[in-house]
Amino acid sequence: MPVQHEIDTLYLHGNVVTMDEANPRADAVATAGERIVAVGQASELRELAGPATRVVDLGGRTMIPGFVEPHTHGPIYSQEVFDSVNLRCPPLGVVDRFSTLLERLRERAEQTPSGEWIIGARFDEHSFTDDPRLPTRWDLDEVSTEHPIFVTHRSGHSAAANSHALRLAGIDENTPDPRGGSLDREAGSQEPNGILRGKGAVFQVWGLIPELDDDAALARLSISQNDYLLSGITSTHDAYILPGWARLYQKALARDLLPVRTTMFLDAGVAFNANGQASFVSGFGNDHLRIGAVKLFADGSVPGFTGWLTEPYLTPVNGNAQHVGSPTTPPEVLAEQVLRAHSQGFQVAIHAGGDAGIDSAIDAIRKAQESDGRTDARHRIEHAHCTREDQLEAMAELGITPSFFIGHVYYWGDRYVEHILGQERADRISPLRSAIEHGVRFSVHSDSPHVPADPLRDLYSCVTRETSGGRVLGAEQQIDVQQALRAVTIDAAWQSFTEQDVGSIEPGKFADLTILDEDPLTTPAEQLRHIGVAEVVIGGQTRYDRETSDKVKTFVDVS
Ligand SMILES: [Zn+2]
Repeated sequence: MPVQHEIDTLYLHGNVVTMDEANPRADAVATAGERIVAVGQASELRELAGPATRVVDLGGRTMIPGFVEPHTHGPIYSQEVFDSVNLRCPPLGVVDRFSTLLERLRERAEQTPSGEWIIGARFDEHSFTDDPRLPTRWDLDEVSTEHPIFVTHRSGHSAAANSHALRLAGIDENTPDPRGGSLDREAGSQEPNGILRGKGAVFQVWGLIPELDDDAALARLSISQNDYLLSGITSTHDAYILPGWARLYQKALARDLLPVRTTMFLDAGVAFNANGQASFVSGFGNDHLRIGAVKLFADGSVPGFTGWLTEPYLTPVNGNAQHVGSPTTPPEVLAEQVLRAHSQGFQVAIHAGGDAGIDSAIDAIRKAQESDGRTDARHRIEHAHCTREDQLEAMAELGITPSFFIGHVYYWGDRYVEHILGQERADRISPLRSAIEHGVRFSVHSDSPHVPADPLRDLYSCVTRETSGGRVLGAEQQIDVQQALRAVTIDAAWQSFTEQDVGSIEPGKFADLTILDEDPLTTPAEQLRHIGVAEVVIGGQTRYDRETSDKVKTFVDVS
């Protein structure tokens, strides 16, 4: 069969930014079935068109490879964006007073049958202009004692619960601090005051919230996918799969509710049986839904003051000026977990934000890699905010690849300076420039629903390092747009072992294509976050076309 009959779609007269170093620019792309078959100039490719070929004139618009989002959370998005009271401060919400937090919860309580859960998402005590502190059980009891109430901190690694919820969780003065967390106590007693710090403590209550039935869960999951799609994302990574959630994704795929390719990072409890054996390892699955890393945790959250640092936080915690956070997993246990995963062929993705947490992650990976001859494991460190220069050196040496949570610069940057770390350490959170200088390959992510999944906004943050308060945080760590684009396309794909299939526009790869209103490479830095997404193609199929779609994003930043 002559080649021209195989071409399904021919895109002509575009400004094609391929992210393929050997062929960085083109103006035409031909696709057949799910794949790209030719990339070049319209004059060469036009003759490939057959009678059945759909010819699309891009009219000079920019086509890039679909964005690869390295770290999001689907089911967690569902719970927060749909079922929780939005307690975020501007620009992602309106709660900038402690009294407003209580009012919003009270409104929900009035509409909620007694006994049902009230969940609030992502308050930030530093934004409260009237009373900048975390709510206690007593504050939440004023909202209601008839409903269990659970509110999460902006970091996701701290929370607070009312007396009803604590009772359901069996938490009282006899409850010891759990592994990977702590319970704040009333002064001079063992009585928990409702503030839960660290994942281990948060999970004691969070784990009690009833799961949705499948239909409701799938409807919500598909909305998270819709948000990704409308942001130009064609591949994502759900960075924490708890029991039941892989099944949900599988069901979503079967019902065609999963347009965006999804790689799942498994909780260790899902990845291994009680004897530590894995039934399958990274790479299992298909081109659309697959298993990626095992997700492990070195520490908590730096903005939540639970990230593990080598030097104290700027602001004392519970009166302790020497507070440095703590490990979520003791280093020797983390090392065992990494070894278990590594030796069976898994990639690991270790959550680590504070520099002591990052030390723990690097040490664990080093030990595992020294134990055998396995190379190119591409073990990941997630968030990696406080990475030091010597740690970048170690990452380069060991082939460790960080995924930086660049959204912290915009959304938390001012807090980092004023409350969390002080100017000097704040200036080098997500040290992208240093990473490039050390030859460390990295990606950047949104950690949605921490902040909306929006790679164009991530580009803006990588390039400008502007904070929501108008500061520039560490101008010496700014990178250029081309480098930033790599971190949300080809390098994010490489990090996930999918660079043979996605991440650039090259013959043989999937036709995962995003069409933009402007070229990021020539757009003024300040405007990068406002570039419109016109069309998104995944596996050769148009999954979003702004012209004909009435879809809108659900979780957005309005600034
Ligand atoms: Zn995450």
